[in-house]
Amino acid sequence: MFFYKREGWIEYICGSMFSGKSEELIRRIKRAKYAKQKVQVFKPMIDNRYSEVAVVSHNGNQEEAEPIHYSSEILKKVKDDTDVVAIDEVQFFDMGIVQVCEELANRGIRVICAGLDLDFRGEPFGPSPLLLAKAELVTKLQAICVKCGNPATRTQRLIDGKPAHYHDPVIMVGASERYEARCRHCHEVPG
Ligand code: ADP
Ligand code: ZN
Repeated sequence: MFFYKREGWIEYICGSMFSGKSEELIRRIKRAKYAKQKVQVFKPMIDNRYSEVAVVSHNGNQEEAEPIHYSSEILKKVKDDTDVVAIDEVQFFDMGIVQVCEELANRGIRVICAGLDLDFRGEPFGPSPLLLAKAELVTKLQAICVKCGNPATRTQRLIDGKPAHYHDPVIMVGASERYEARCRHCHEVPG
């Protein structure tokens, strides 16, 4: 970790699903709280995998979070005495989230984002590429490929047990859908 003379920067924790992004975000939130820092946690309303009002890791750890519709709401909600702003599932926010993070960091706030760098097709996800470029500190995590045991950098989308096609809609009514961590070589996206 680097030491800065002045407060205010952006950290981005990225990687595939199951790579431990939420776990790492929760760890950083807890440590900031031990240091008596004022922490506010936000997440987009869209993600209701486990909870609307908490950052929840696949291992069951959690921290309370405020659900947000639009990135601009975050600027209105951040209090004057807040030291740390944590944002989970940042890839689901509109592109305005990049400017929001920049503004908070410029104001002297430590901004910690966590999100998917790639979508199920293996392509850059929403605002992720810009955050990767603008962050002072980037942590790229890997899961374990469920097929071969390699470090996994991709998220495999499965619909009724089969690899999702490139053009399959994001929401498939009536289909059973799940995700797996896979490496580059085991990741399948039929055209
Ligand atoms: P993310 O936020 O990146 O989706 P989480 O922090 O929610 O990740 O979950 C990480 C946890 O997921 C791991 O500690 C482990 O318990 C579990 N897990 C499930 N499948 C895998 C996998 N294929 N590789 C690594 N961890 C996995
Ligand atoms: Zn593999």
